[in-house]
Amino acid sequence: MTFLFFIFGLIIGSFLNVVLFRFGTGETVVSGRSRCNGCEKTIAWYDNIPLLSFVFLRGKCRSCGMGISWQYPAVESATAILFAFAGKTFFIPGNLESAIATVFILGLIASLVVIFVYDLSHMEIPVSALVFGSVWTAVSLFCLWYFGSPRGAFIDSRLVEGVIGSGIAFALFYALVYFSKETWMGEGDAWLALLLGLALGWKLLLPALTLAFGTGALVGIVLMLRGKKGMGSPMPFGPFLAASVIFMLFFGTMVGRAFGFFLI
Ligand SMILES: [Zn+2]
Repeated sequence: MTFLFFIFGLIIGSFLNVVLFRFGTGETVVSGRSRCNGCEKTIAWYDNIPLLSFVFLRGKCRSCGMGISWQYPAVESATAILFAFAGKTFFIPGNLESAIATVFILGLIASLVVIFVYDLSHMEIPVSALVFGSVWTAVSLFCLWYFGSPRGAFIDSRLVEGVIGSGIAFALFYALVYFSKETWMGEGDAWLALLLGLALGWKLLLPALTLAFGTGALVGIVLMLRGKKGMGSPMPFGPFLAASVIFMLFFGTMVGRAFGFFLI
């Protein structure tokens, strides 16, 4: 079963590469077949198999020999591994709630992978990935409550926890953006924080943001020590927020217990 989730992740990862590439060029996702960036030749289906084709072609285009970006196999394998892990963690065959939870996590992971990679390379958070992730999360959390057995009070649902979390996170980040005049954070980060709060709920907000700011500061210091970034040179914060959400999706329950004194 885990293997099927892995294969599914490879296929989705390969689709996310197309999405990422076309966000950058302004093309729509559905138009046309994949082409080589170098010689513009359409890529044959057998050269477009996730991960395997990259290995067989040794990372080069068959017709012009131009190097294929490492981003392709990296996104494919990362998505596949995360999907396999999600399937293993959340999916119980024949259980409706676990199926809804799994579908929720997979869709959210897909949008976070796009946000992670795009912000890293373009210093910008793609709006469509944010909207997709937020709507997907809200609908999933509603379904989790609606199909929950027994169905609890709506006020206690994960959706309400998420809406409260998104409000707090957005207000906090919007204040950071406003008072720093976008020098610490961009407006996109505030919208991503909204998705973080919605997906994780207000109870996990403090550990999730601590993790994002902590890893962000750590990476910033390492880059500065290695002389790659100067003081105050811009570094995207979106990847840290996205990675923190993914971490908390898997380990949030454990973290929640450890941070028990922050919970009601
Ligand atoms: Zn080529």
